[in-house]
Amino acid sequence: MIVYQLKKYFLRILGFIIKKLDYPLYLAKKNTSNKWKKKYGGEFRIGMDDPVLSILFDITSRCNYNCEYCSSSQVRNKKRHILRCRDAFQYYSVEKWVEAFRLVEFEYTLTISGGELFVLGENFHNFLKGVAALDNVKLITICTNGALITKMEQLDEKVREKTTLMVSYHPTQISKESYVEAIDDVCCRGWHIGMFVYVMEANQVDQYEDAKKMLTDRYAVGLLANPDVKNNCKQQKLKACGKYISRKDLFQKVGSTTFGKFCFFPAIAYELSATGIAYRGCTGKGKTNFIHNSKSLYPLKRPVPCPLPVCYCLNKYAFLEDFSERGRELDLVGEYAKKEKNIVNEM
Ligand code: SF4
Repeated sequence: MIVYQLKKYFLRILGFIIKKLDYPLYLAKKNTSNKWKKKYGGEFRIGMDDPVLSILFDITSRCNYNCEYCSSSQVRNKKRHILRCRDAFQYYSVEKWVEAFRLVEFEYTLTISGGELFVLGENFHNFLKGVAALDNVKLITICTNGALITKMEQLDEKVREKTTLMVSYHPTQISKESYVEAIDDVCCRGWHIGMFVYVMEANQVDQYEDAKKMLTDRYAVGLLANPDVKNNCKQQKLKACGKYISRKDLFQKVGSTTFGKFCFFPAIAYELSATGIAYRGCTGKGKTNFIHNSKSLYPLKRPVPCPLPVCYCLNKYAFLEDFSERGRELDLVGEYAKKEKNIVNEM
């Protein structure tokens, strides 16, 4: 356990130094890998003149849950004396946000995460309607815990057609019965669920198989075992969840280093905060005021050597040179679910 903690702190410090030194640009000049060339094309049109961008919008840190293991958790922040309850609509109006998204000059997919988006109520509803109507938005992925969607009035078909949900299941926060009730309602309202994500504490690993059977039988949608929660039981969870994710994914989830490997995520992606500041994915570079200057977002034709020591997020590392078969479809969640749904490894 001590070794694991030391490794974690070492990687954090290393990541900080790497960012400061701008080492990726140095490595870019020494581009000798051929593996990344396999990633050209696909629905993101990677490496072409008009690639599809990916914008990841962290819209709020507010949430209806209080999970101990979550970095947005109000319980956790209270303990650390951090006041971090803010959302995008405290900074700019819905109209300003939608207008900024309209002005992006490339086509893009939009992934919206939090906190929990549906705590934003009417504002989020109007925002979603506004961006779904834009021609340059190809697909919207919403990361939600699903519990509050039922409070939203029916959204029109155009929104639902363009949207896929990644719905997390936190057994520490909601009973099985209430979760099923909420998801039944979500389905009745015509939303498309791309994938469920089982986010658990260490003592809930054993319930994963039951949860998977329940959700797969009822909704025919896969349940990803999510071991990348941030607490000390990670290794224990990996042991259990490793059975259900591919070896390559497990390799990422245990914190194998990605530093210096070629990746198209920073080349096509921007990470956008609730305050309206956008950065080129993972690099912390290219700071842009999205509200006033969203026109200036642009893709790179070549991949960027990964500037970070580790990468846990499957929607991001799908663009890494090692994953030549992933990052091909705009619906990254659907792509993952299709490819990985039947995995059961020997442990
Ligand atoms: S997406 Fe992951 S692998 Fe790619 S550059 Fe970012 S941290 Fe590295």
